Amino acid sequence: PVLDVTQCQNLQPRGPIEATSCDYETVDYVKNALYESLKGLVKIPFFRYIQMDMYRGCPFWEESAMCTEPTCSLDTVDEQEIPDRWRMKTLSKVDHVTNYDKLAGCYYRDSDFCYLEDPKVGDYFDLSQIPERYTGYTGEGARQIWRSIYEENCFSPSSLQSSSDLLNEAQTCLEERVYYKVISGLHASISTHICLDYLNHTTGEWTPNLNCYITRVASYPERLEYIYFNTVLLLRAVARLGPHLFLYDYAEGADSAAVALRLNNVLGIAHEAGKFDEKALFGGINAQALKEEFKHHFRNVTRIMDCVDCDQCRLWGKVQTMGLATALKVLFELDETSLSRSPDANPLQRSEIVALFNTLHRFSESLHAVDIFRRLARQNDASE
Ligand code: FAD
Repeated sequence: PVLDVTQCQNLQPRGPIEATSCDYETVDYVKNALYESLKGLVKIPFFRYIQMDMYRGCPFWEESAMCTEPTCSLDTVDEQEIPDRWRMKTLSKVDHVTNYDKLAGCYYRDSDFCYLEDPKVGDYFDLSQIPERYTGYTGEGARQIWRSIYEENCFSPSSLQSSSDLLNEAQTCLEERVYYKVISGLHASISTHICLDYLNHTTGEWTPNLNCYITRVASYPERLEYIYFNTVLLLRAVARLGPHLFLYDYAEGADSAAVALRLNNVLGIAHEAGKFDEKALFGGINAQALKEEFKHHFRNVTRIMDCVDCDQCRLWGKVQTMGLATALKVLFELDETSLSRSPDANPLQRSEIVALFNTLHRFSESLHAVDIFRRLARQNDASE
């Protein structure tokens, strides 16, 4: 698309958000407070360490050339730095696993929307030290991943159509649209981060790149709408978790009172804006079959992440698909009884909570970035 800075300034969605009883204005009203609370929260040890098996390999096709740029690489954390009780290996196995995939080392519980990580394999990462930003990972390899993810839009084999075709299609069911919005919103949020923290190859500086943002996001208003959509979905999951969140022990290496305050802030916001209407989905005649199909395809998306040929992108891809899968599980699989159980009963692993909060932080950061891009567009306009 032609670069037009007014597109950036005018990009202000308004009115109700589909499948929710929330509107864009409410999200705008809470987004700064949400971002500030999450920014502090994801720095504490509980939320920043995660274990991931980064080298499971791509089960779907021959991997293409790996991104060898330094910007793609990733530092691990020594296991000794991880508080003992969070070490996955001390937990020794994933409990309640009911299904093993044909693919080695891949398993899930019936309630899962993602493949679980094998605690016996994998490294620890400090998410607070790993930015999501421009890495230089691009080309046919990256595009193939996105294509495959959109092809997983399970309900319509013709889903390769453009978003507007898909959404205008009269027969498109709500579940199908939700799936598409979740994926497209994730894609838009990743693009926003790439453009926000972009490497200017001429000066060697990391700066926001307005042109990049306009071309990838602002020229397609629905993409920003889906970032809002995902934010509401994730907030709804946090609101549903509610008291369950206080059953975890965040004290290790953190000020408990400060953590409780931030957590309460996020929960308050979640109750105000997290009004995703999960009861509107999976209610028809084939509800169970449709839900199983949805889960199966979303699990595949989490597996496709193993095909991302850039370590840093793959880590954030895995974390965020796990975060979204956790939100879907909380909304569609966990009842009040399981949510009232202690974490020891394993309704959710710690890593699922970590992924959920870090993903919400990423989306809130994308909403925050929109304001930065708007300011830049205004400055550009004024200086012309
Ligand atoms: P792409 O973003 O690759 O998009 C491909 C096509 O999809 C576009 O041509 C467009 O038709 C369509 N499309 C684009 N956005 C949307 C949307 N929101 N909704 C619907 N359709 C859309 N690169 C980095 O620099 N840093 C990262 O951290 C990073 N993380 C990544 C994580 C994953 C999981 C993947 C798959 C890729 C990641 N990449 C990352 C690569 C990055 O997303 C782009 O693929 C790359 O920058 C090339 O961009 P592009 O302009 O060719 O279009």
